[in-house]
Parts: sequence; structure tokens; C-alpha cells
Amino acid sequence: MNARTDTADIVVIGGGILGICTAYYLLQHSDLKVVVCEKDLLAQAATGLCVGGIRQQFSHPANIRLSQETLQILEELRDDWGAAFDFHKIGYLFLTKSPTTWENFLENVQIQHRWGVPVEVLSPQEIHHRWPYLRTDDLLGGTFCADDGYVDPYEVAMAFSRAARKQGAVFLEKTEVLDIELKSDRVHAVITTQGRLATPVVINAAGAWAAQVACMSGLNLPIKPYRRQVYATTAFDAIPRPIPLVIDQDSLFYFREDGPGILMGKTDAAEPSSFDTHTDRGFLETLIETASYRAPRLSDAEILRGWGGLYAITPDENPIIGTLSDHQGLYGAVGFSGHGFQHGPAVGRALSRVVLNSKVDLDLSAFRYDRFDCLKEIGEKITV
Ligand SMILES: Cc1cc2nc3c(=O)[nH]c(=O)nc-3n(C[C@H](O)[C@H](O)[C@H](O)COP(=O)(O)OP(=O)(O)OC[C@H]3O[C@@H](n4cnc5c(N)ncnc54)[C@H](O)[C@@H]3O)c2cc1C
Repeated sequence: MNARTDTADIVVIGGGILGICTAYYLLQHSDLKVVVCEKDLLAQAATGLCVGGIRQQFSHPANIRLSQETLQILEELRDDWGAAFDFHKIGYLFLTKSPTTWENFLENVQIQHRWGVPVEVLSPQEIHHRWPYLRTDDLLGGTFCADDGYVDPYEVAMAFSRAARKQGAVFLEKTEVLDIELKSDRVHAVITTQGRLATPVVINAAGAWAAQVACMSGLNLPIKPYRRQVYATTAFDAIPRPIPLVIDQDSLFYFREDGPGILMGKTDAAEPSSFDTHTDRGFLETLIETASYRAPRLSDAEILRGWGGLYAITPDENPIIGTLSDHQGLYGAVGFSGHGFQHGPAVGRALSRVVLNSKVDLDLSAFRYDRFDCLKEIGEKITV
């Protein structure tokens, strides 16, 4: 570790969207020395591998607010930075044939309307009329928000990292944090593969590795890694554009347009927790079968490539944001399941205010670290 980087006011562990955005916003409000340690390269883990979706269709108001804030932030920054990232406003369409899920959809829509989300409730006939390539005869209905969509997650992360660097953030790539030193319940330093870095504040933004990083300070965070596989097809024009991000909530299958091709994936609810990110032939066969059922034309699509990434999942599928324990100087933004990319900018801004002791406009109480005794009240129901 050279003299320039052997001390820091704040060390962020993890150079994904959460770590990068938090560093950016910390430096908007201060001239502190902020160092981000990343064991690999920036945004190569979940952030760079994700599908880039941004939706306002959540069941929990706090998650709706985070998506709305991110959309606003991206719009402002696109103008300020002249950044290239485009928001593809294709909409998100949720479908179900299950009476219980349908009831949940209708309850969620009431909450979403209360928060100003322009979501529509659609009958199977209306769905068939708008998207005739979808099988609808078995459905009870769907919900559609035309303002949802996607961006290129890597472009967004890189734009934030460039802006953070300009403000003085130091990004140490290929630098793994191996330990966190505490003295009298206060953060004292981090030990990295490049040396020791003295600091009074550590922010855990380590994604799927968040529990391992928490362990370094003796904390037991209930966050587990789960593989999610995604497949892209070659150019495919048998389905007319725009193709919304369609989520079949019963099979947890989804697809959307992806340039000239299609991107599709599925949650395997039976898959055990692991750090495995390989693609799997058996999974692909099930995916194609599910895709061909819900959108029969997809059976003609040709798979180009696939990849796996990791979700970081808490028991209630909501993240942990803010202080992580009674130890002084330990903070985190971890456990984002399948919605951390879209919440990264808004959470980065809110967390920077928590760390700097400034006023936070968002209600983060649903995301406190010590909530796991009263899970039923506050969990997120719409997960994919
Ligand atoms: C296939 C897939 C599709 C998804 N689709 C969407 C979507 O459409 N919309 C959405 O909002 N979200 C989506 N997500 C979820 C989203 O990708 C994540 O929630 C989000 O990227 C998490 O960001 P992060 O910064 O917390 O984690 P990451 O991007 O994983 O970054 C954490 C970083 O910490 C580093 N790290 C870990 N331990 C250490 C250590 N000890 N020292 C130094 N560095 C360390 C890792 O190398 C990694 O780079 C998807 C995820 C996957 C896998």
C-alpha cells in the first residue's frame, strides 16, 4: 500500500453499483478521502451481469420510492453528464394464473397507485390484444406499467465511477479486503491484499460476499448467494418491438427485447445457495420449455450465449441499509436480491447522508439491520 492510500476517511468494500454510487454521493457532500476496494475489476459481478431492469411495480412503498428516485437521478444525470445511457421505456408486464397471486397483484396495485405508479390492471383479453404472441388462455390477468424499462447496467456504473473519480474517489481494483480491525468497538482499519488501510469508517457493499465481509467484524448478516442464469438469443424478429419485460410470476420466467435479440431468464426456486455461476444445460432446457409455453414463438429463437450471476438474498428479500451494528463506523448496503441495480443510485445517495449524518429524505426503516424478528410486516413480495 503506498503513502497515498494507507489512510482513508471512509473505505467502501465492493466496486459494484452500490459501492460506486455511495462513493460518488459521499464526495458530493464532503471532501473526505473515500477509497473503494474491489477484489476484481469494477462492476464485473452482479452489477455488470444483471439485466438492467428498473420497475416501479413493488409491493413495499420503500422499494417503489427507491425506483422512482433512481429514475429521477438517471434522468438528471443524463442531462448533466451528457452520458450515453439510454432508458429503454418498454414497460414491465407481470402475468399470473394463480388466484392467490392475482389477489396479491390487486393489493400491490392499490399500493402502487397510492405512490403515483401508472400501473394498469389487464384482463387476459386485453393482454392478448396488445401482445398477441403471449399465451393468455390460462391467465387470470396481468399488471403493466409503461414507465418501467431497462438501461445498460455497466454503462451506468462506469458513468458513476468516472464522476466519483473526478470528485476525488480512489478506486483500488484487484484489492481484496481480508479483514477489518476493530478497537473498543470502533472501526480502526482494513487489511487488504495490498496492505493495511487505516480508517474510522467501513461501508460493506460486497454484494453476494456481504456476509463474509460482515464476518470480518464479527457480525452475522443473514445474506446468502444464489445463482441466477440469463440467456441471450441471436437476432430474432418473430416478435414485434417493443417487447416489454414480461414476467410470468407463476413460473418465475421472464424475457424482454435485447437489441435485435431476446434476453430471458428464470428463477429456479429449488436451487440451493452457492457461489456457483456456471451455466447449466438442464436449466436451459427447462427455460426453453417454459418460454415456449408462455410465448410459443420463442421456441424458434436460437440461443447465442448464457451467463450466471449471484443474487444476495436476505430472509425477507429486502436489503439492509445503514448502520450494521452497534460498532461505531460500520455501515452497509447489502442483500438486494434482484433489484439492487435499480436501487443503487438512490441508496448510494441515502446511505451517504446516513454516514455523513445529514438529513435523509427516504424512509429507510424497512431496511434496518436488526429487523429480522418482525419479518412478516415488512418483506417485499414481488421478487423475480
Ligand atoms: C442475472 C441477474 C439479473 C439481475 N437483474 C436485475 C435487474 O434487472 N434489475 C436490478 O435492479 N437488479 C438486477 N439484479 C440484481 C443486481 O445485479 C444486484 O442487486 C446489484 O448489482 C448488486 O450490486 P452490488 O454493488 O451490491 O453488488 P456487486 O455488483 O456484486 O458488487 C459487489 C462487489 O464487491 C466485491 N467484493 C466482494 N468481497 C470483497 C472483498 N472482500 N474485498 C473487495 N471487494 C469485494 C465483488 O468483487 C463485487 O465486485 C440481477 C442480478 C443478476 C445476477
